[in-house]
Amino acid sequence: MKTLEILTPEDKQGIDLPRLLEDEQNALGKKKLYIESYGCQMNFSDSEIVASIMREKGFATTSSINEADLVLLNTCAIRDNAEQKVRNRLSTFTSLKRRKPDTMIGVLGCMAERLKAKLLEEEKVVDMVVGPDAYRDLPRLLDEVETGQKAVNVFLSKEETYADIAPVRLNSNGVTAFISIMRGCDNMCSFCVVPFTRGRERSRDAYSVVQEAQDLFAQGYREVTLLGQNVDSYKWASEDGTEQVNFAGLLEKVALVSPELRVRFSTSHPKDITDEVLYTMKKYDNVCNYIHLPAQSGNSRVLKIMNRTYDREWYINRVDAIRRILGNDCGISQDMIAGFCTETEEEHRDTLTLMDYVKYDYGYMFAYSERPGTPAAKKFVDDIPEDVKKRRLNEIIALQQQHSLERNQQAIGKVHKVLVEGTSKRSTEHLQGRNDQNKVVVFPKHNFTKGQYVNVLVTDCTAATLLGEPVL
Ligand code: SAM
Ligand code: SF4
Repeated sequence: MKTLEILTPEDKQGIDLPRLLEDEQNALGKKKLYIESYGCQMNFSDSEIVASIMREKGFATTSSINEADLVLLNTCAIRDNAEQKVRNRLSTFTSLKRRKPDTMIGVLGCMAERLKAKLLEEEKVVDMVVGPDAYRDLPRLLDEVETGQKAVNVFLSKEETYADIAPVRLNSNGVTAFISIMRGCDNMCSFCVVPFTRGRERSRDAYSVVQEAQDLFAQGYREVTLLGQNVDSYKWASEDGTEQVNFAGLLEKVALVSPELRVRFSTSHPKDITDEVLYTMKKYDNVCNYIHLPAQSGNSRVLKIMNRTYDREWYINRVDAIRRILGNDCGISQDMIAGFCTETEEEHRDTLTLMDYVKYDYGYMFAYSERPGTPAAKKFVDDIPEDVKKRRLNEIIALQQQHSLERNQQAIGKVHKVLVEGTSKRSTEHLQGRNDQNKVVVFPKHNFTKGQYVNVLVTDCTAATLLGEPVL
């Protein structure tokens, strides 16, 4: 059984089903949209934009696929198994279509963008294929489908940020929410399909981000996560050019919304994370002490052919800066890829020694999966046998388990400020929330409720969870 921190994003999120929003629950007579999201947090955030666009078109969301008029899968293309998961799901829709032939089925997101109209040929059950920058066109595409045609829009934009669209919060706990601050990616890591499926990097108007954070706070939310593929390269300028905001500046603006609103962000790129960002984190108590800093490998030659544009020493320098400015308590998590093209055993061991150096709190770890059309697929041979990739991956996962446990043990005996997200999954007598470092903390309920901050003395832990008692 895998523990939480070593589940892949797909494992964690792919089977999450949306829940009805209260104001839509009684939307009798309205047409119904069922939307399922796969992959990264950005896709989950995009689904909320899609729900908002479709609401304008007269659709209410439903958690029951059987009552849906429109079924949308918001897909991921990052690894082959992410695409297989979607194809398996689509294969189950044949019987749905047979029972309810009017049900319309759309594929959104990165897989739609990668495969384009080919997806319509390969998956006959699909009516509509829509890329990540074409969601405003959904109502028109739907009209086409309603006349019996198939519809495709996979146009990638250099400007689209959906800044003016107020997301409909799906599957929400009412306490934590995502805010997308930028789209696309310009980095061209050689293994990665994202620059091809999500297009060029663009940053959203800083004031629309702050406004969204203010609105969420007014609605009772107490934590926002600012999302982008590389948040440290966030860059926005006002139209007249008099004001320029970088990521540190944006973080500060959102932190100032309220000291009661926690701010998190993801993902940081090691080549771009600045000391200015670290000092901003230090300056504001409500900016959480946690950084997701994907390494991908601990070996400089492998990093070079991955085109990560930093080497092992640079990465270590950034970790040292985090420890110097934010201290040993700052949570750090990683992404690692095992078995990238030409990786030797010795180079794999460099990944393990980097992990020993950093002592990450969590990790998201993957075996290399070649993606068609990427620079790595064009330039290199995917030459590490699957069993070797798997063994290296297992070594990385086992080491991470050990480090997660060690890091969690360091939390024992200390009081942590926990934002309550809801009832514990294992016991109705317990609540669960997260501490500053993004660790899940479980404690007895007493009279505390969702959305409250509670000081909890941690008394025990597993590799995945801290357990404690509220300080009354
Ligand atoms: N933008 C983020 C960054 O630079 O780290 C991450 C984006 S990607 C959605 C999430 C993770 O998937 C990457 O950090 C990488 O570890 C993994 N990944 C991407 N392409 C992959 C591939 N072809 N095979 C295996 N893992 C991959
Ligand atoms: Fe992919 Fe690299 Fe961009 Fe991350 S930074 S999305 S890994 S190309």
